[in-house]
Amino acid sequence: MSPAPIKKVKNQPTNKSGKKPHPQRWWQMGLGGPSFFGNLLTTVLIFFLLMSAYSIIESFVQPTSNIPLSVVAADVAEGKIKSIIVKGDSLDLVYTDESIKVSRKDSSAGLPETLSTYGVTPAELSKVSITIQGQSGFEFWFLTLAPILIPLLFIGFIFWFLSRQVKGAGMQAFTFGQSKARIIDPADSSQRVTFADVAGAREAKEELLEIVDFLKSPKKFLDIGARIPKGIILMGAPGTGKTLLARAVAGEAGVPFFSISGSEFVEMFVGVGASRVRDLFQMAKKAAPAIIFVDEIDAVGRVRGSGVGGGNDEREQTLNQILVEMDGFEPTEKVVVMAATNRPDVLDPALLRPGRFDRRVTIDLPDRRDREEILGIHARKKPLGPDVALAVIAERTPGFSGAELYSLMNEGAILAARENRTEVTQYDLIRSIEKVMLGPERKSHLLSKKEKELTAYHEAGHALVSSILPYADPVHKISVISRGRAAGYTLKLPFEDKRMHSKKQFLDDIAATLGGYVAEEMLFDDVTTGPSNDLMVITALAREMVTRYGMSEKMGPIAFGERQLGNEPYSEHVAMQIDAEVARIIDEAKTRAKQVISEHRGALDAIAKELIEKETVERAEFEKILIANGITPKKREEEGIDIVPFQS
Ligand code: ADP
Ligand code: MG
Ligand code: ZN
Repeated sequence: MSPAPIKKVKNQPTNKSGKKPHPQRWWQMGLGGPSFFGNLLTTVLIFFLLMSAYSIIESFVQPTSNIPLSVVAADVAEGKIKSIIVKGDSLDLVYTDESIKVSRKDSSAGLPETLSTYGVTPAELSKVSITIQGQSGFEFWFLTLAPILIPLLFIGFIFWFLSRQVKGAGMQAFTFGQSKARIIDPADSSQRVTFADVAGAREAKEELLEIVDFLKSPKKFLDIGARIPKGIILMGAPGTGKTLLARAVAGEAGVPFFSISGSEFVEMFVGVGASRVRDLFQMAKKAAPAIIFVDEIDAVGRVRGSGVGGGNDEREQTLNQILVEMDGFEPTEKVVVMAATNRPDVLDPALLRPGRFDRRVTIDLPDRRDREEILGIHARKKPLGPDVALAVIAERTPGFSGAELYSLMNEGAILAARENRTEVTQYDLIRSIEKVMLGPERKSHLLSKKEKELTAYHEAGHALVSSILPYADPVHKISVISRGRAAGYTLKLPFEDKRMHSKKQFLDDIAATLGGYVAEEMLFDDVTTGPSNDLMVITALAREMVTRYGMSEKMGPIAFGERQLGNEPYSEHVAMQIDAEVARIIDEAKTRAKQVISEHRGALDAIAKELIEKETVERAEFEKILIANGITPKKREEEGIDIVPFQS
């Protein structure tokens, strides 16, 4: 069973099942609402409507078809005009033929003066009856005040809208600063995760139990003056259950869980990330006791100041805000901040200082017993056939994370359902191991005769070198059926779960991985794009040997960090020496692989031939070929041991 995904909280207050409203539900109200930009659009629309209404009324009140004053003067002189009605500056002209025209005069002068400047004699003017009329009160006020009043109304309207928003959001004037935190309500049992849902990770659970105790009864701790850690950072490979564990802490303690992911901050406008952090902490403090969970904190918490040209302002501001908020906690604050990362090596040291994320909890990949437990948890709601032995599946999946075991179980159920069975069998689960490890088989991806031969020799190269070199793991299965992106694959079997690797193992691993490349080169006198993934893997491995594990005698037992522009912990000269060491390790491994392959050329041909014919060769057949060619297969102490992926 997998807990329901964390759901995005919009502004629907979830008050299910008629339970009494939770006193802390305030955060679910008034969040979101119509967006700011939506409001702006409405306001602008209304503004335009008002403006057009104004111009319509104006044109109604003031017909615009004016005739020039010179024409009026000429018409007066010729006696065509019977009377003139003067309203302010506008003139209504009534002609002898009863037609009406309009005109305007200059407001600085009276009508008689104006007309006389156009050459109208007083005698001609006296034939026209002139009436002076006041402009109607409404018209006057409207026309004078509207151009001032409408923009004022408009501005007032905007303020009104904004203030409504402030009330709605409770804290922020603009919605885009709002925290996009997902919130899990402790009262929502469908989303509740507890420690019982997390298998393995015993030490981590023990560490976190203390936090659960504190969140459950903070008073007990505060009364005695105990300082509870504010920040706990969960470190572990992807899929090891960091998020799950953080949710379980909230579930066990029965407190709200506010979660946000570091990667969400990265692509935002400058300042928005910081304001989101502020909101998030504010919400959590009001809901205290509570947990704030910052997932993928490495996305914002990388070492600062290494970005060249200030390219990462937003990230830095966000990180600074997190630090400021954590420093600003009162000693009595009942909010615990948890964070997760799979890259603890890149974190800014400022994050790990006392009073911040000073408590570190490491979650390892599950061992055999944990894997069985995890499979058990995810088998809870799946009817299993009588032949299912989860212990065997657990044995065969070293290196699998909790997330991969979850998807293995799921793939098994899908296989069973597709074949219309009501129970998941052991065979379904076994097939799912390879599917999860390497992606689905691509039977339709047919190789040409030449490609098939090449792939067969490539895989045979891996398998042969693995079988000969003493520290490489023995082979479990070889195949030239495409899976995922690999044309073929070789699976090998370590004797046990490996926590530590030795230099000798690494060197043999690199040589075995180069076995494919070397076989292609020796046999076809050419190299294809096939081994590109192999090369990436060994280059990274060789570099780690030199820079992290002190496995190069020349460079000595020194851990060299990453060297980037703006962050140069060692000189260009040392960087060149490291490159030279990496090249040397790979070159020596290549020579050894070549040696093995040319010494056992007969075995290589035999393995490749079998592969071309059968496409998949299991361990028993493979070992028969080795024996037939005078090679003793590696002894294993136990039977039925694990397999780990081996690059194609
Ligand atoms: P991470 O955050 O470390 O990448 P997640 O917590 O997201 O990993 O794990 C993904 C899924 O894998 C979980 O939802 C759960 O179904 C499964 N899982 C991982 N670890 C465990 C575990 N120890 N016990 C049970 N299930 C697990
Ligand atoms: Mg996670
Ligand atoms: Zn390969």
